[in-house]
Amino acid sequence: MTKQPRDPPTHEEPELPGLESELDPQPDWKPLFPGSERLRDKVAIVTGADSGIGRAVAVLFAREGACVAIAYLNEGQDAERTKTEVEKEGGTAMLFAGDLGSAEHCKRLIDKTIERFGRIDVLVNNAGEQHPDEELDNITEAQLRRTFQTNVFSMFFLTQAALAHLSRGAAIINTTSVTMYEGSAGLLDYSATKGAITAFTRSLSQNLVDRGIRVNAVAPGPIWTPLNPFGGKPADEIPDFGKNTPMGRPGQPNEVAPCFLFLASDDSSYMSGQVLHPNGGVIVGS
Ligand code: NAD
Ligand code: MG
Repeated sequence: MTKQPRDPPTHEEPELPGLESELDPQPDWKPLFPGSERLRDKVAIVTGADSGIGRAVAVLFAREGACVAIAYLNEGQDAERTKTEVEKEGGTAMLFAGDLGSAEHCKRLIDKTIERFGRIDVLVNNAGEQHPDEELDNITEAQLRRTFQTNVFSMFFLTQAALAHLSRGAAIINTTSVTMYEGSAGLLDYSATKGAITAFTRSLSQNLVDRGIRVNAVAPGPIWTPLNPFGGKPADEIPDFGKNTPMGRPGQPNEVAPCFLFLASDDSSYMSGQVLHPNGGVIVGS
């Protein structure tokens, strides 16, 4: 894998990210319905597709006919599983490990995807990291930089590198979060990155509308993935994860992935600059 030097995780938290293969119970990422060729012959890049929401998106896109470039940090075992599942759907997958906080690495991902598949139709900017901190003072400069680098800078770097390859009809989908809309006392830096992502989505949609490229976002609520149980939340909060939503439970990745499919396909051809909210019934602004 291409390993970039970066700041270590702060505090006592485990090295992020965690492995989906070690999560108990296992998340449900399997597509619920037969495909209908909504993404036939399309090529999608999905970042953070080794696990969680990204895996569910990659497999659903493959069911709908897409080839998928699976980008991830270093969870090789999880990424191999996603690749196998994409192939079971009849799709072709490419694996790409390394730190998307680096502009050079993002450029390499785009170059490799073009080399392998010859085109890019859908860019899903979904990789992210999250570090809980009760006190503002506990957020170190290193953590602040790292969280913005992964969650926000990667979206700029990847979009910049991909743009020359995106034609009319292409779609960009960014993963933001309900924490941006509700606020989150213990996730100050993370929720701020998600605010930046929503603003970037709206501004980029206006910037690219004349080129026929649509840009939208998905703002999940609490979803059962490695992100929260493996360091994204204090361990004592995990048993109640998702219970504060109107539905009283966390969501599963396959309850989120269809939002990405809708925004990736021509079903949403009259939508840009918008955010979908798979969040268990929490009512937020737009
Ligand atoms: P996840 O841990 O399964 O996926 C995140 C992935 O991002 C990881 O698998 C990792 O490979 C990748 N990643 C992290 N840092 C990276 C880096 N520097 N370079 C390359 N890849 C990197 O967790 P998930 O919940 O599926 O997260 C996907 C997205 O959903 C994230 O943007 C997250 O913020 C967002 N989200 C999650 C929830 C939730 O409750 N799980 C809620 C709202 C938003
Ligand atoms: Mg992972």
